[in-house]
Amino acid sequence: MSARLASAAEYRDGVRAGDRRAIAKTITLLESRRADHAELGQCVLEELVPHSGGAVRLGVTGTPGVGKSSFIEALGLALIERGQRVAVLAVDPSSPRSGGSILGDKTRMERLAQQPDAFIRPSPSGGSLGGVAHRTRETMLVCEAAGYEVVIVETVGVGQSEAAVASMVDFFAVLLQPGAGDELQGMKKGVLELADALVVNKADGELRAAARRACVEYQHALDLLRPVSPHWRPPVLLASARSGDGIEEFWKLVLAHRSALPRSGELDARRRTQSLAWLWSLVEEQLQRDFRAHPAVTRAIPPLEAEVAARKCTPAAAARALLEIYRDR
Ligand code: GDP
Repeated sequence: MSARLASAAEYRDGVRAGDRRAIAKTITLLESRRADHAELGQCVLEELVPHSGGAVRLGVTGTPGVGKSSFIEALGLALIERGQRVAVLAVDPSSPRSGGSILGDKTRMERLAQQPDAFIRPSPSGGSLGGVAHRTRETMLVCEAAGYEVVIVETVGVGQSEAAVASMVDFFAVLLQPGAGDELQGMKKGVLELADALVVNKADGELRAAARRACVEYQHALDLLRPVSPHWRPPVLLASARSGDGIEEFWKLVLAHRSALPRSGELDARRRTQSLAWLWSLVEEQLQRDFRAHPAVTRAIPPLEAEVAARKCTPAAAARALLEIYRDR
């Protein structure tokens, strides 16, 4: 056995034993831009995949300030109190243009971060949403192989990040503010359709009444949609990350969803569909990288782009020309 495989086995054993350093190092390898590190990371991952799949995979989204980190912290602490181990990951495809990340500063979820049974990992940085989402998905598998029973993936409503997270979890929750009217209007089309549940957070103190009204409005909005599954009608819940009200009910709902879907084989089917979609997006990602790295294609792109911009060439003709160059390599 080569040295590389032996060290992959060491990482594997470390992860399987729940060693936090081995887990963190494996994730760092997977996120690495150094080809040899990334390759070793993939070797480790292959060893770990047979041990993955055992966690409840939960996605949480919501606009900044809605209370995602407070909610996840409250839920995470409640789960740990019941003896479960919880991993919190993030998909934060902040554009290089807007600068830093929207989700991830280190002060978030401080209490949860101190728990030995919690593992919190910020979003992989840089790259396309697809790339960031792939890394997070791989991290999820690592956490599962390390024995985390619940993996929570957090995202913020940027671009298509909600769809990316919904496509890697079993249950996708959308957190909302008590001010329903405004938010329904501003909400991106499609997010409601992805939700397995809506949670109106901050249902406490002066906001309680507004949260109740919002709950009714959101339920109406949901009733107008066709449910994703014939076995599950997404409900609207009230919660307060601050007081802890509704956290227990939320978790019961996640578990009810888990027991409603397997009976119909739907949860398995969902994971299978997700795996196939992941397979093809990996193929597409690699093809695109190969395509753009091809020297003749690289040379041909600027002049063809200029021609398309100047309307001397149609996009379709330019695409054909590039693909021909690539095929003739
Ligand atoms: P995120 O940006 O979605 O992660 O939101 P945070 O968890 O950072 O919360 C944003 C603000 O809302 C903070 O000031 C929190 O203290 C507050 N907040 C979060 N959850 C609740 C809640 O349940 N009730 C109230 N009243 N405030 C909350």
